Amino acid sequence: MLAAAARRLPRRLQVPAQTAAAAVRAKAWSAALERHGPAYLDMQATTPTDPRVLDAMMPWLQGKFGNPHSKSHVYGWDAEEATERAREQLAALINADPREIFFTSGATESNNMAVKGVADFYGTKKNHIITTQTEHKCVLASCRRLEVEKGWEVTYLPVGQDGLVDLKELEAAIRPDTALVSVMHVNNEIGVVQPVEEIGAMCKARGVFLHTDAAQSVGKMPIDVKKMNVNLMSISGHKMYGPKGIGAIYISRKPRVRLRAVIDGGGQERGMRSGTLPAPLCIGLGAAAAVAQSEMANDLRHVERLYRRMHGKISERLPSITLNGHSTQRYFGNVNLSFAGVEGESLLMSLAHSTAVSSGSACTSASLEPSYVLRAIGVNEELAHTSLRFGLGRFTTEEEVDRTVDDLIREVERLRDMSPLWELEQEALASGHKQAVTWS
Ligand code: PLP
Repeated sequence: MLAAAARRLPRRLQVPAQTAAAAVRAKAWSAALERHGPAYLDMQATTPTDPRVLDAMMPWLQGKFGNPHSKSHVYGWDAEEATERAREQLAALINADPREIFFTSGATESNNMAVKGVADFYGTKKNHIITTQTEHKCVLASCRRLEVEKGWEVTYLPVGQDGLVDLKELEAAIRPDTALVSVMHVNNEIGVVQPVEEIGAMCKARGVFLHTDAAQSVGKMPIDVKKMNVNLMSISGHKMYGPKGIGAIYISRKPRVRLRAVIDGGGQERGMRSGTLPAPLCIGLGAAAAVAQSEMANDLRHVERLYRRMHGKISERLPSITLNGHSTQRYFGNVNLSFAGVEGESLLMSLAHSTAVSSGSACTSASLEPSYVLRAIGVNEELAHTSLRFGLGRFTTEEEVDRTVDDLIREVERLRDMSPLWELEQEALASGHKQAVTWS
């Protein structure tokens, strides 16, 4: 993995080392965090903008304001050159051709485009899609709309207890009328990495297009779209230390995938996605890609080291903890844990002032519903309600992890002391009716 991460960018696409001003900003930011702010362990929700990204964007937010589609003057030419360079930087990160990259507003739009666009284009010949039960809502909702409004059939594949799809089940689900398989790369809730390369080989052999939602993996893990045989890939800027409001979709040229555009207008992005390109955001996304490429090996090592640190401290001191999702086939920056015998919302609230984390049992509606991803991997409702997701990343410090773990251990012990659920848990363990689980 690390060897692939070391793929070097040509000098022209590299982002200059951090400027002194950016270094000062970064230092001030982390000092402020240490002094006042809660630790930020919610990197799946969004990542802080890398100071080098901000550096690249700043000129385009101040003096440089040209429209990249203005063809008749230097303001436009400059903006076009910069956005095309950004396209090349993003293409280089995933081993694509720049002509295969289309800027969008983010992964939600890219996912909508992939699912609905393919369906609209191939709808007269095919009308079946395969996806999984643990995809992001925007994929599931797009599939649902096709079912309800266009009469498409959708197979929602279950996943195993480890969160992974079963390749045999997937293969059996492919039919002559299957237009698209859509399986995410890294899951946003539990961090498991689906075997996209194997799925790609299978889809290629069966002549079916493969889309992968890579919002949580691009810029974090080495990705080679050619090697993975992926035909469509969704990318999000703000999950990879870039700005919010920008993303991209990769659409392969060989084999050529045709889509019907979801947004019509001036025909920008070769007709695939009309609308004036937001040059500063595109440039920020390009810079984020270039930084990710040069930092990837370090980032991966850093995140795995923090994961081990968390694991060591928590598993030593807290019994009855479960890690949700496969223990090794995962992105280590995502740590989703269930704490038997505590009420998840109480735990979340008691940590809120010291740590920004996310509830694994996120509210998906007005009522507190346990996460559909945790339900899909067989976590019972009670335990799903006790789950928290900790997100580690490039800028997470050891100090943040230590502070969070200390607070977490203290609060779990306090809540367990008061909890009838914990008493029941211990009785069940003592009577042998239940096996002790600990994060292994
Ligand atoms: N897909 C996954 C897996 C995500 O985690 C997210 C963000 O939460 C999205 C799609 C949507 O991304 P964006 O915020 O860029 O629209």
